[in-house]
Amino acid sequence: MICQLNSVEEYLTMYGELVTMVYMNVNMDQLGVITQTHYHGSKARAKKIIQERLKIYNKDYNFTFARISIKDLKSRWGSCSARKNLNFHYKLLFLPIELLDYIVVHELCHLVEMNHSHRFWQLVRRTIPDYKKRIFHLRKIEREMQGLKKR
Ligand SMILES: [Zn+2]
Repeated sequence: MICQLNSVEEYLTMYGELVTMVYMNVNMDQLGVITQTHYHGSKARAKKIIQERLKIYNKDYNFTFARISIKDLKSRWGSCSARKNLNFHYKLLFLPIELLDYIVVHELCHLVEMNHSHRFWQLVRRTIPDYKKRIFHLRKIEREMQGLKKR
């Protein structure tokens, strides 16, 4: 099943420009699975791609972090602890790369700004100028995932 998103026209209305991200690779079947086996079977692949993307973006920021953990987080895509540990949901693996990148950058920026202040968003914008569009799309996927859980 492919994530059913609203029309391109809706994006045009919201942002006044065409969204060119590849939305079709949202894997709702995978995002909807809630089993330990699924987690254990996907964790290593998730870690590999997250580490790769983090490395690419951190070339720009050059922030220091302790370690990366891949978890089956309850209600978050990622988190950053005071000890500078970065945690990511293993299901980032099933998101389009543009959204995975946004989440990676979001947590990376929390290493220096432990809040959602203007300064924080400025940091995010440095490498993800269209971050608002990505958040918009992510919220849509989250709503889809909620729908799957209820069924
Ligand atoms: Zn945050």
